Amino acid sequence: MNARLLESLSLASTDPEVARAIALEEERQQRNLELIASENYVSPAVREAAASVMTNKYAEGYPGRRYYGGCEYVDIVETLAVARLKALFGVEYANVQPHSGAQANMTVYFAALRPGDTIMGTALDHGGHLTHGSKVSFSGQLYNVVTYGVSRRSEQFDYDEIRAIAKAHKPKMIVTGWSAYSRIPDWQAFADIAHEVGALLLADIAHVAGLIAAGLHPSPVGHADYITTTTHKTLRGPRGGAIMCDAERGKGIAKMLFPGIQGGPLMHIIAAKAVAFGEALQPAFREYAAQVVANARALARTLEQRGLRIVTGGTDNHLMLVDVSVRGLTGKAVEAYLDSIGITVNKNTIPFDPQPPAVASGIRVGTPAVTTRGLREPEMEEIAAIMSAAMDDVASGTQREALRARVYELTSRFGVP
Ligand SMILES: *Cc1c(COP(=O)(O)O)cnc(C)c1O
Repeated sequence: MNARLLESLSLASTDPEVARAIALEEERQQRNLELIASENYVSPAVREAAASVMTNKYAEGYPGRRYYGGCEYVDIVETLAVARLKALFGVEYANVQPHSGAQANMTVYFAALRPGDTIMGTALDHGGHLTHGSKVSFSGQLYNVVTYGVSRRSEQFDYDEIRAIAKAHKPKMIVTGWSAYSRIPDWQAFADIAHEVGALLLADIAHVAGLIAAGLHPSPVGHADYITTTTHKTLRGPRGGAIMCDAERGKGIAKMLFPGIQGGPLMHIIAAKAVAFGEALQPAFREYAAQVVANARALARTLEQRGLRIVTGGTDNHLMLVDVSVRGLTGKAVEAYLDSIGITVNKNTIPFDPQPPAVASGIRVGTPAVTTRGLREPEMEEIAAIMSAAMDDVASGTQREALRARVYELTSRFGVP
């Protein structure tokens, strides 16, 4: 190998500014406690595939039907990714090309709806996603949006109420799946309502896909007409999206994604998806997902014991919404304080929140990332103790150093992959 080529291999020598930022991010990920519910750490194998030479390849089209030559090896990884995803969820058709969860949803809408059609999605402050009809998203601009939410009393879905909204508005599609809902949805009830009003049902499992793949959360397969997901949350793959449905609907999805919406697929990311799906098929992934849920329960229970209110009174999955207004605090203030002691969370509105989204009465907390690092129930109790002490200290800030030391003591004992 010649000297010039060798030098080109070292990012630190060719681009020290970017190399430094990456090194700092690596340090941050090791030092901090990551409780953002939508984040995770991928395995070295997934990162190796994502950083591979497959990034150099154009492959518009699908395996065996490409618009470019030289696709024989990228075809292998896409074929593997599709087969593994189908095996994970038991579906007839899977498309692994969406660059993100948002693009997976866009593809389904464009394939199944026309602009101006009515979609019925969950309101943002009741756990829905921007792409489920928010005005700031294409979904809220192209379609007539009707929203449903949780009931004020239980903070969970009330299917009679949802049925009444569906009957009144006759949507063309009902959108389910959430970014901040900690309970098990009744897929059959959603499917019944959709059938009663002649609507299609979309299940966006971006958050819980890994739990479903592990058999720890009910699957919408057999209930929903379309299923979309991200691949980087509980599924623990590279950043990206995927779409699943039956073979017939799959034809429309394939055409709409390419050439309808996207150009060339990200073959290095598809290679990484194949690796992640392969990992998720292993027995060890089920153990991981079970620990994610056990950790979330332990964290919710101990936060509650320390006087915080968990929205809905608990969690069945990997996340929870913590109502910090019971301590006289806002989500914004708590997020900022926790950040200053090395705990990363996001502020989040709670259902019927009197505060605007930029302030919020709650924080969203999730266990996928810390579980990947190997933290278990005893560590969840320590995290709850630190978080509770932090909330007592928001006003004075006198405990900041001591609490930060407790966070670093914890993270120094558990490596990141
Ligand atoms: C995260 C998420 C998405 C969007 O995923 P991106 O990859 O960020 O576009 C879509 N739907 C739900 C429910 C999500 O939680």
